[in-house]
Amino acid sequence: MTELVFKTAAEIADLIASKEISSQEVTKAFYDRAEALNPQTNSYLYQSRENAMAAAVSADKAQAEGKILSILHGVPIAVKDNLTTTDAPTTSGSKILEGWVPQYDATVVKKLRASGLPILGKTNLDEFAMGSSTEYSAFGPSRNPWDLDRIPGGSGGGSSSAVAGHLAPIAIGSDTGGSIRYPAAVTGSVGAKPTYGAVSRYGLIALASSLDQIGPVSNTVLDSALLQDVISGHDPHDSTSLKDSLGSMTDAVKNADVKGLRVGIVKQLSKDGFQPGVKACFDDTIAKLTAQGVEVVEVDCPSFEYAIAAYYLILPAEASSNLAKFDSVRFGLRVAPEGNPTIERVMAATREAGFGPEVKRRIILGTYALSSGYYDAYYGSAQKVRTLIQQDLEKAFSQVDVLLTPTAPTTAFKIGEKVNDPIAMYLNDVATIPANLAGIPGMSVPNGLAQEDGLPSGVQILAPAMQDAQMYRVGAIIEKLYTDEWGSPLIAKAPKLEVK
Ligand code: GLN
Repeated sequence: MTELVFKTAAEIADLIASKEISSQEVTKAFYDRAEALNPQTNSYLYQSRENAMAAAVSADKAQAEGKILSILHGVPIAVKDNLTTTDAPTTSGSKILEGWVPQYDATVVKKLRASGLPILGKTNLDEFAMGSSTEYSAFGPSRNPWDLDRIPGGSGGGSSSAVAGHLAPIAIGSDTGGSIRYPAAVTGSVGAKPTYGAVSRYGLIALASSLDQIGPVSNTVLDSALLQDVISGHDPHDSTSLKDSLGSMTDAVKNADVKGLRVGIVKQLSKDGFQPGVKACFDDTIAKLTAQGVEVVEVDCPSFEYAIAAYYLILPAEASSNLAKFDSVRFGLRVAPEGNPTIERVMAATREAGFGPEVKRRIILGTYALSSGYYDAYYGSAQKVRTLIQQDLEKAFSQVDVLLTPTAPTTAFKIGEKVNDPIAMYLNDVATIPANLAGIPGMSVPNGLAQEDGLPSGVQILAPAMQDAQMYRVGAIIEKLYTDEWGSPLIAKAPKLEVK
C-alpha cells in the first residue's frame, strides 16, 4: 500500500469512509511529515498539532455516530494564511499583522470545520498576496519541493509547496491575478480559481476585491473538484457571492469525455515569451487533444496585450484602499514613534515598520492612480481595458467551449532571481490575469516536464463564467492523457523530499 501521505485526498476520503483508517491516523501522518519537512520548505507559517488532532478526533467521533459530514470527511487540509481563523494567528504574510488572532472564522474555514476537515496549519504567502514567488513574505520564502533553491510560485507558494511536497493532501489558496494557478504550474500540482463569487470571500483578507477569489490546491483534478464542491455556495456575509449553484465539479470530473469538445488557443498567449520547454509541453498537450478528436481553433484576444498594465493599475488602486484599515489601532502591530505620539505619527511609524517594500510600492501606485487629475487617465483607462478583455473573451467563447494557454511563461525560477525586479515579477502573470479581470474560472493542470530543466509545466484551462464544470471536465481529460502516459499524475514523478 502506498504510504498514506502519498495518497490523494479522494483515496484518503474513501479509506476513512470505509473505516480502513481513521482521520486521526491520516492527520497524524501528515502532521508528522509537515513538522519534519517544514524547516526545508517553509510552507507553513503556523502549525498546531493540538488543533489538528482535536479536529480529527471530532471527525472520527462524528463518523462513529454515523455522521459523514462531507465527501472529504476526515481529510486534513492546509489553509493560506490570509483567511481568518479563531484558533490560529493570521498574518497574511505581513509583519503588520504578526500575532493577530482574529475574532471570527472565514466562511471557508467554517465550512471546512463543519465538513470534518482537520486544519493542519496556515500556509505562507507573499505579503498580502502580492507577488509570484513568496519572496515578498515577511517570514521568508517557501521553497519548491522539486528543487529547494527554486520558488514554489506565489502568492500561494506555501499551499503549493505543502501539497506538492505532501505536507498536506490538499490546501486552500486565493487567486487575485494567478496566485492559485501559477504556484500550481511551477510545482506540478493542480489549482483552480472558481468563477468570481462562487466561493465566499468573507474572512479573506482582501487584496483587490473585484478580483479576489478563493479556490482549491491539490495533486489531482478530482481532489480540486471535491474541495471546490465543499467550499462553494452562497453566503449572506459576502454580497458578491453567487446565489445559483454551479453544479457538481466532482460529477464533471467523473463523467468527463471528449465528445464534441471545442478548444481555443489564444493567439496572443501561444507564441512568444514562453520558455521553449514550456511551449513544447503546451504544443504536446494540443497534439494529444487533437489526436483524441478534439476540435482546436485559434482565437484572437487583442486586448490581452494590455492585461498586465490594466491589472497593475486596478489592483494597486483597490489594494491601497483595502490596506488603509491597517492603521495600528485595530489590528496587530503598533509602533511608537520618537517624540510626540499623535495618532497620525503612530500610524505612519507602524505602516513604515509593518509593510514591506512591495506593499508600499503598490499603495503608492494605487493612491497615485486614484488621485484627482489622474483618475481618468489611469484607473479609468484600466477599467476600459478590463471591459475590452471581457468582450474578447465573450467573442472567443462563442466559438469554443474552453481556452487553453500555458499557465506560466517559465518553469520555477531560482530564489533571488527576480526579487529586485518588480516588472520581471509582474510578467509571470501574463496568462493568468485575464481570468481575474473577467471573473471567469481558470485552472492549471500539470502537462509535463520542460526538456531543458526537467521542471514541471502547467496548462491553463479557461471557461466562461459559471461554467466551472466545463473547466473541470477538460482538466480531467488533460490529466488523463498524461496519466495514461505516466501511469499516474505528474506528482508521482516528483522527487520525494527526505526528512533530514
Ligand atoms: N502575482 C500577482 C500579483 O502579484 C498575483 C496575486 C494574487 O493572485 N494574489 O498581484
